[in-house]
Amino acid sequence: MRICFATNNQNKLMEIRHKLEGEAEILSLSDIGHSGELPETHDTLEGNSLEKAMYIYEKYGINCFADDTGLLVEALDGEPGVRSARYAGPACRSGDNIDLLLENLGNNANRKAKFITVITLILDGKLHTFTGEVNGIITKERRGTGGFGYDPVFLPDGWDKTFAELDLKEKNAISHRAIAVQKLVLFLKGQ
Ligand code: IMP
Repeated sequence: MRICFATNNQNKLMEIRHKLEGEAEILSLSDIGHSGELPETHDTLEGNSLEKAMYIYEKYGINCFADDTGLLVEALDGEPGVRSARYAGPACRSGDNIDLLLENLGNNANRKAKFITVITLILDGKLHTFTGEVNGIITKERRGTGGFGYDPVFLPDGWDKTFAELDLKEKNAISHRAIAVQKLVLFLKGQ
């Protein structure tokens, strides 16, 4: 089975190739001759992951999947959500996003948040969706130096370490992305 992973993130590509070794051949965008960004014009994670997968499926006629992730903060009505990557502006860095998040949350006592990853797979024209979620709270200050994105301020439920304080193995055992990827992998292994 050959499937394209519609992502420009090499780490995600390597991770899933490793998990599906011997089961499926995961092609990158460059393997299929695509370069450049993928369209992400929707205001939901589901919409964006479907849009990216559908774009590749229609343009290249190949089975493929795409993902989209957001951090949803309860007291901010689900923000930054689908805008997580560019919360503080089009050319912002992760640090700017965290600053804005902490500023917008201020001293709010409700610090509940969750990461959600949605993966859309298009296999022989049929759509399949896999979702992973992890609940937690937003800390008042940054803690830890690992990970990326909002990791220094996300404290997953049941842990006393932020995502940035967990080692990669620990984070990969509980993260939103790992849960969604695991569902995809199990599905593909059953095909
Ligand atoms: P993407 O859809 O995987 O590119 O994720 C969109 C944005 O969500 C990223 O640019 C990060 O800001 C944030 N994000 C996604 N996954 C994580 C994570 O595991 N930790 C922290 N931030 C994340």
